[in-house]
This record gives sequence, structure tokens and C-alpha cells, in this order.
Amino acid sequence: MSTLPACPQCNSEFTYEDGDNFVCPECAHEWPRQAAEPAEAAAKVYRDSAGNVLQDGDTVTVIKDLKLKGSSGVVKMGTKVKNIRLVDSDHDIDCKIDGFGAMSLKTEFVRKV
Ligand SMILES: [Zn+2]
Repeated sequence: MSTLPACPQCNSEFTYEDGDNFVCPECAHEWPRQAAEPAEAAAKVYRDSAGNVLQDGDTVTVIKDLKLKGSSGVVKMGTKVKNIRLVDSDHDIDCKIDGFGAMSLKTEFVRKV
């Protein structure tokens, strides 16, 4: 459960969230949510389908056949993917696969080698 921070102006505990801001109903102070979050919360941990922590440069294998968007190609289960790059996006991994070129993968469909 997330705890909302007290208002930095009047110390009210009745803070609420409004979009990307926190709002204090007592003094009407508004401030961005991002600044209130501890820095270490920003470090995202990426895990493969087996729960292993993934890092940039790791080699993984694909654990199921993946259809490519916008083409008839399929990345076969067991395909080895070298030198992955982790990204914070709707997919988790940027990589290059021999014969396919630049690809985007999700961590849940790979396993660390
Ligand atoms: Zn306040």
C-alpha cells in the first residue's frame, strides 16, 4: 500500500493524488508526485520467465514461438538472443536477432542462458 506524503507547506496529512500531482486540501498547495518518490524506487528490476534477474548484455533464449508484428515471420522457441538491452517501455528488451534484425521482446518470454 502506498502512503501519501504530508503537505510540505502546512504538514497536512489529507494529501490526495490528482493526475501527476499531489494536492493538499487544507492550503491548496500542489506539487509533483515524482519529486516525492525516493530515488531508489526508480531502479527497475527485470526478471526472466524463471525469475532470474536480467542485465544489459545478457544472453537469453526465447521460450515460445513469437509472431512478429506486421509480418509473417516467427521467432522460434529456443532462439538465442545475445547482448540484450533492457528498456523501460511497453516491452522490456531491445535486441538484434540473426535473420530478423532489431527486435523488441518481453522478459516473460525469455530465459537467461
Ligand atoms: Zn497544505
